[in-house]
Amino acid sequence: MMNFETWLYTKKNVGYTLLDTAKTFSKFPEDKKEKLRNQYENYVQKASMNPPVRKVKCNECGKEYAVPLKANFMFFCPDCRIYNGSECEYGYAAITPCNIFLGDKEIGMITGGGREDYMLTSDEYGLSMKLIKGYKNLEVYHEVVDIMKEYLVRTE
Ligand SMILES: [Zn+2]
Repeated sequence: MMNFETWLYTKKNVGYTLLDTAKTFSKFPEDKKEKLRNQYENYVQKASMNPPVRKVKCNECGKEYAVPLKANFMFFCPDCRIYNGSECEYGYAAITPCNIFLGDKEIGMITGGGREDYMLTSDEYGLSMKLIKGYKNLEVYHEVVDIMKEYLVRTE
């Protein structure tokens, strides 16, 4: 989220002057300053209500939906419930915690790794289980996809 100064720099030529708004802000009349401050408040409110998302399209049913962006996450289609993909920092950093989403709803998480066992937890499906597979080739992710598939079908 941008601070007020930075945000002002994006508001060029908003009416009062053709000069850079941020540089001339202090010279603005009070009502103009007030207006900009209110606009900034709105921006802050919207930004905090709308965390960054990735728009995805299900390659099975064509459903388009938004998944919250995390360092590591995998997502299933909210309509047909098939596995749609994952993103993670494999090769750069730990691949956990990994948030598991059904559409934009978080339904579970993978934790652990390194010297600890990988774990799959899900309040949604009452899961708290040790995983067998490991880091290499993201095998633990594939293991989780297989497990989640079963639960996602069962609750249909
Ligand atoms: Zn789908």
